[in-house]
Amino acid sequence: MAEETIFSKIIRKEIPADVVYQDELVTAFRDINPRAPSHILIIPNKLIPTVNDVNDEDEALMGRMFVVARKLAKEEGIAEDGYRLIVNCNSHGGQEVYHIHMHLLGGRPLGPMLMS
Ligand code: AMP
Repeated sequence: MAEETIFSKIIRKEIPADVVYQDELVTAFRDINPRAPSHILIIPNKLIPTVNDVNDEDEALMGRMFVVARKLAKEEGIAEDGYRLIVNCNSHGGQEVYHIHMHLLGGRPLGPMLMS
């Protein structure tokens, strides 16, 4: 059984967060340390620690994360100019919180995909 992170508490509204979307499958909230004018995290309500833990039965859930990303990008007014979706996995990917999350980043040109 995977260990809960602070994101489970955000889903259950036990700690404050700027939640911009929630349904029966996913929750989205603004990143506490935004790296771009729009920086939203889209997470499954179910605890899946990393991409390595995604199972076949999670296909619809993973799809919902993309559908919500598309809706939020439109709401944020960044859909036309463009944006970036990032999912970090484990230490080489730079993952800090072990509850899978999709970063939605936009609102300015984001530069090259990788620093090096
Ligand atoms: P990652 O490095 O992909 O695991 O990203 C974790 C992200 O979670 C970082 O961008 C953090 O700024 C963000 N974060 C951590 N704690 C919170 C929180 N309580 N509310 C909102 N965002 C958070």
